[in-house]
Amino acid sequence: MLYIVATPIGNLEDISMRALRILGEVDLVLCEDTRNTKKLLDHYDIDTKTMSYHQHSGEGKVKEVIELLRQGKDLALVSDAGTPGISDPGGKLVARVFEEFGDKIQIESVPGPSAVTAALSISGVPTDKFVFMGFPPHKKGRYTFLKKIFESEYPVVVYESKHRIVKFLEELKSMKEDMKVIDDDKIKKKKMNLESIVVCRELSKMHETTYRGDLDNIIDKITASPDDQKGEFVVIIS
Ligand code: SAM
Repeated sequence: MLYIVATPIGNLEDISMRALRILGEVDLVLCEDTRNTKKLLDHYDIDTKTMSYHQHSGEGKVKEVIELLRQGKDLALVSDAGTPGISDPGGKLVARVFEEFGDKIQIESVPGPSAVTAALSISGVPTDKFVFMGFPPHKKGRYTFLKKIFESEYPVVVYESKHRIVKFLEELKSMKEDMKVIDDDKIKKKKMNLESIVVCRELSKMHETTYRGDLDNIIDKITASPDDQKGEFVVIIS
């Protein structure tokens, strides 16, 4: 059995009872960063052994995991925060395990928090349909990524780090200005779209902050204080 276990995105209390039971029962917990996961396990007095499985884990590590499953071990995969596979390396392992064993190994989800759903839940934007675009690419494909946001019929959710949040918001702003010269009718629509932005910082943590409204105001608020540029961010463009 391979369990894909969601863990908190900040507040250690945000974990299900089932997740705690399974983390205590499995033979091994595969973690993005064993030090991070140890803090969670120690907090709940869980002494299951851990093994690292992260973005840079090569084929050797995948084979090791496959061998453990072949021996009949029960494994749990967790990431540093939230739901494994959502903009982190979990998905790759699930694909490889399925490729290797097909239906012979059961892959079960233990659902819980994810920054995308937490942000949407407090955004106030219509959420019956949305587009999740994860992290913007750093260089190649960045312009296309931004363009797709403008073209989306549905609210778009983007993940961003503290290092790039201001750059990303400023690029949205300049794209908005570029759009003005394209097509008058479209502009009105696009402009309205971009007036409705929600930025969630440090969800479920001590310094949780939500910035809403006009893009210029949000940029002003975030750039006004270095503290507002700290932490993890989700941006919703509606
Ligand atoms: N698997 C995670 C999930 O389910 O949300 C996402 C992992 S991804 C590597 C990390 C990104 O998620 C961060 O850069 C940030 O954009 C977002 N994120 C994670 N925790 C967050 C939090 N507490 N507040 C705001 N954004 C968060």
